[in-house]
Amino acid sequence: MSRPVQARRLEGIDKNIWVEFVKLAATYSKVNLGQGFPDFPPPDFLKEAFERALSKEKYMLHQYTRVFGHPPLVNILAQLFGKLLGRDLDPLTNVMVTVGAYQALFCCFQAFVDEGDEVIIIEPFFDCYQPMVKMAGGTPVFVPLRPKPSKDKKLMSSADWQLDPAELASKFSKRTKAIVLNSPNNPLGKVFSRGELELIAELCVKHDALCISDEVYEWLVYDGKEHVRIASLQGMWDRTVIIGSAGKTFSATGWKVGWTVGPDQLLQHIRTVHQNSVYHCATIAQEAVGQSFQRELELYGKPESYFVQLAKELQQKRDWLVQSLDAVGMKPIIPEGTYFLVADISEFKSDVPDVPNSKEPYDYRFAKWMVKNKGIAAIPLSAFYCEAHKNNYNHFVRFCFAKEEATLKAANDILQKWKQEKTSP
Ligand code: PMP
Ligand code: GLN
Repeated sequence: MSRPVQARRLEGIDKNIWVEFVKLAATYSKVNLGQGFPDFPPPDFLKEAFERALSKEKYMLHQYTRVFGHPPLVNILAQLFGKLLGRDLDPLTNVMVTVGAYQALFCCFQAFVDEGDEVIIIEPFFDCYQPMVKMAGGTPVFVPLRPKPSKDKKLMSSADWQLDPAELASKFSKRTKAIVLNSPNNPLGKVFSRGELELIAELCVKHDALCISDEVYEWLVYDGKEHVRIASLQGMWDRTVIIGSAGKTFSATGWKVGWTVGPDQLLQHIRTVHQNSVYHCATIAQEAVGQSFQRELELYGKPESYFVQLAKELQQKRDWLVQSLDAVGMKPIIPEGTYFLVADISEFKSDVPDVPNSKEPYDYRFAKWMVKNKGIAAIPLSAFYCEAHKNNYNHFVRFCFAKEEATLKAANDILQKWKQEKTSP
C-alpha cells in the first residue's frame, strides 16, 4: 500500500514492556520474578468450581451468558461490594464483568475520554494507562510519587513515596476528565492512606473529575494496613469506577475475569463500549469465579478465608525477598501491598557493562544483563514512568514475590553467590 497502514492513534505505542520482558524471561531466566503471576497453584475451591461447571448437566455453561455479566457472578459481586462500600448495589446496573481488569480499563477510557481531555496518572503507574488514554484521544498528565527518605530507617517503605499536594493540585484544570488511582499500587506496592485519598477525592469533587480506581490488588495488603476504597469517601461514589480482577484475587491470572463496579450513570457508558466491542466474557470462568466469591463472602474476615490466608502467605514471601535483597545491597523498598517489590540497584552499576551512546536507561540494561548473566528476571522501574520522567527513576527494578518458597530460595542462592563474587577479588 502506498498510504500509511497504521492508524494515527497507534503512533508511539507499539513497544510493550511485557512483550519484551516475558520473551527475555522465557529465553534466559532460571528464576522468573518478572511478569506478575503466582507460580503456586490457585486454591482448590476455585478449580473445583470450574470442574463442577464442566459437569454434564451444566452444558448450557458452554454457551453465551448475559452480555454484561453472568447473573450468579454479578449477584455475588453486588453483595460483596455492597457490604464493603456500605450501600445497596443493583447487580444489573452497578456491576459489569470484563475480560480481565485490562478490558475494564480500556472500556473506562473509551467511555469517558474525548479529544482534548486530560487524564491524570500517578507515577509510577501500570504501563497500559498511558497508551489507553492516548488511544481514546486524551492527553495523559503525569504526577510522580516522590520518595522521602528518612534518616532513622535502614530501609524505605512504599509509604515513604508520597504525592506533593501542591503539585497534584496544580495538575487539575478544567480539561481534567479523570484521574487514575491504583491502590495498592503496581509497581511500588504503596497502599494510599485515608488522608492521601481524601486529598485526591477533594480535588476530584472540586474539579468535577472522575476517578478510575484500579483496585486489582485490594486483598493483598500487609502489616494490618487498611485498603480504603476511594468510592466510600464523601462525594466519590457518583464519580468513581472501581476495577477488580479475579486473576489477582484468586491467583489465576490466566482466567482473565475482571469487573467494574460503580454508579449506573457511569456504568451505562462502559456497557456501551463493552456491547460494541468484546460483548461477552467466558461463561464457565465467570461461573467458577462467582462460586468462589460465594465461598469468600461466607467466610468473610475468618481465618479460613482465602483473602486472609493469601495475604498472610504473601507477607512472609515479601519478607524473605526483602531479606535476600537487603543482604546483597539491592536496597528493597518494603511494599505495604501487592505482590511486587521495588529495589534500588544503584550499587550494581559496575557489574553492568557500559554501552557507549546507548539510549536505553540503566535499569533496562541492568534487567537485561541480570536475566542473561544471573538468570533472574525482573522488570525495570522506568517502564512505569512517562518518557520525560524515565531518567529520574532509572536505578530501580521490580521483583514479583508471588512465588513458591523454592523459587525464592533459588533467587536467594543466586544473589548470595553474586555477592560473594563481588566481594572476593
Ligand atoms: N491493573 C493492574 C494494576 C495490574 O497490575 C494488572 C495486571 N494484572 C491489571 C490491571 C490487569 O489485570 P488482568 O490480568 O485482570 O487483566
Ligand atoms: N499485571 C502484571 C504485572 O504487572 C502482568 C502484566 C502483563 O502481563 N501485561 O506484572
